[in-house]
Amino acid sequence: MKKIAVVGTGYVGLVTGVCLSDIGHDVTCVDIDEQKVEKMKKGISPIYEPGLDELMKKNIKNGRLHFTTSHKEAFKDAEVIYIAVGTPQKEDGSADLQFVEQAAKDIAENIERDGVVVVTKSTVPVGTNDKVRTWIKQHLKKDIHFDVVSNPEFLREGSAIYDTFHGDRIVIGADNERAASIIEEVNKPFGIPIFKTDIHSAEMIKYASNAFLATKISFINEIANICEKVGANIEDVAYGMGLDTRIGPQFLRAGIGYGGSCFPKDTKALVQIAGDVDHKFDLLEAVINVNNKQQVKLVEKARNRFGSLQGKKVALLGLAFKPNTDDMREAASIVIAKELVKDGAFVVAYDPIAMENAKCVIDDEIMYANSIEEALRDADIAMIVTEWDEIKNLPLDTFVRFMKTPVVFDGRNCYALEEVAKHNVEYHSIGRESIL
Ligand code: NAD
Repeated sequence: MKKIAVVGTGYVGLVTGVCLSDIGHDVTCVDIDEQKVEKMKKGISPIYEPGLDELMKKNIKNGRLHFTTSHKEAFKDAEVIYIAVGTPQKEDGSADLQFVEQAAKDIAENIERDGVVVVTKSTVPVGTNDKVRTWIKQHLKKDIHFDVVSNPEFLREGSAIYDTFHGDRIVIGADNERAASIIEEVNKPFGIPIFKTDIHSAEMIKYASNAFLATKISFINEIANICEKVGANIEDVAYGMGLDTRIGPQFLRAGIGYGGSCFPKDTKALVQIAGDVDHKFDLLEAVINVNNKQQVKLVEKARNRFGSLQGKKVALLGLAFKPNTDDMREAASIVIAKELVKDGAFVVAYDPIAMENAKCVIDDEIMYANSIEEALRDADIAMIVTEWDEIKNLPLDTFVRFMKTPVVFDGRNCYALEEVAKHNVEYHSIGRESIL
């Protein structure tokens, strides 16, 4: 078993560190955020991720999982160092590598062991691992040999622990067999198929995978938009398409588009990566445009239905970019709330987990409710934005009992139309006929 350090304890770094300790490695996670580290030392996760707290506590207790703010302490005996810091998008859409560069400097200034393998888990443009190597070399204090390996992450927030133990593949990009086999050895206990390739291909696999999934989403959303106009039902269309094994049933759920910390920024970064080599990525640009339009679909539908939204009370159900996470990055709810406020609507929002984070990004323009019922009370309109279990399992008569007028715009197709037809609810969804 290896001595491992993980730099950055966000959704990826923390889950990676905790899971690596769970399969037997001795892991030290380092973060510059003191408050986060204090919490984690007590076994409390700073992020909401099902199962994470329990797994943290278990591995802290058995002595294999440690947290620190000191890079020196984390890297002292490390044989493998994972970089899992953020790579947010810059204004031009390209990936901001400042945190990766800083992490590389931190590594250079603090590693002591010869032969350490530096693994980039952050999503980074093709060629970044070469830069990581250069940045480390430039700041090394002693003549220490190290290797750089690309190991992109494919976990999904909300099921991150499950994904780490049951992922479809682990991609290892390396330029020498020694480094590749060390990282293969580290990951072997997960029992997941490992694909070894060169560094640039590994970097590209991550962007190409996210761009492909985003394309699938925008494609089905466009089909849904057409279904509405021609009188077809997107649920049946998607099911019928998915029966073809060449297409497959996954990622064919029509809705109000993708959000989150990965698809929006990674698609834009790939357009930039292509642009840098004089390739105009028309297809991916269209995917992004479709998604931008799709995020405001519910507001558009409400505008068409009511003429003006001025003074209307709108209950916004769900804020996180998807269920089972508190992550608000690029959530459709942000765009929807802003549009509604712009139209003069009075917005009351509810989310079971993400409201604290939402308050940081949607600020004072809207009100927050402590329950679905409180949000729905006397509302003119309900908009379903995130399909949390609590929201998608809400009995339809709740809309009738609490709202002034039970008009529901469902951005996640939570209800079967036959069910809705049994209740006195006006219901508009995506890619299906409206029930009036
Ligand atoms: P995040 O923003 O949640 O966390 C990053 C953490 O790194 C923060 O806690 C920050 O304080 C810390 N940090 C920054 N600089 C540091 C330094 N020099 N030393 C120590 N700590 C430092 O990020 P995330 O969502 O976990 O994403 C990390 C990377 O993984 C990104 O490149 C992202 O694209 C990629 N990724 C994310 C997901 C996801 O679902 N979130 C999935 C796959 C890949």
